[in-house]
Amino acid sequence: MDGTPQEARVCVLHERLSACARGRPNDELLARMLASRACDLGGLPPDLGLDPDGFRRMLDRNFAGADWPAPAGVGPAVDPNRQPERDDLRRLLLAHRARIDASERWVAEIVAAGCMGGNHLWQDLGLRSRGDLNDLMATNFPELAARNDRNMKWKKFLYKQLCEREGIHACRAPSCQVCIDYAQCFGPEE
Ligand code: SF4
Repeated sequence: MDGTPQEARVCVLHERLSACARGRPNDELLARMLASRACDLGGLPPDLGLDPDGFRRMLDRNFAGADWPAPAGVGPAVDPNRQPERDDLRRLLLAHRARIDASERWVAEIVAAGCMGGNHLWQDLGLRSRGDLNDLMATNFPELAARNDRNMKWKKFLYKQLCEREGIHACRAPSCQVCIDYAQCFGPEE
């Protein structure tokens, strides 16, 4: 954060949400995503991509009593052509969830929604950095996080899992090491 008024507002909202959290595994990350979205940062819809009931239950469970602005408006409509893709991503994440905390289900929905955005996944989720996203993946989907041991960009990595599961080899090169698209799949996400 470089101290713009918008980012200062994110910090204030994040603190308010965190003050009502009870130390559950995803409190910090969910508070960050909620605060960013409330300040129009990131690419998630106002309800973070959850259905209305799930969104309300998440707030009631993790941030009961928090003083923060209720999300306004409706999110961008999901392109119907991309709904199957979003469903596949959600199922992939759910199949690999840590099974430690119920909030993993909401996080899977949110990450799948974030994959519909046009920037790096950590940016679309309203997180501070790729490091936050690494933490999110390790906490919620540890098997997938361990599988991404070469730091592939997260969206690329998740879509590659879907392709491999279907037996699709979409890459033009026999291996990443000799691929001309290497920089699109690996490297810094700033
Ligand atoms: S670097 Fe090339 S071979 Fe490796 S996943 Fe990306 S496109 Fe496929």
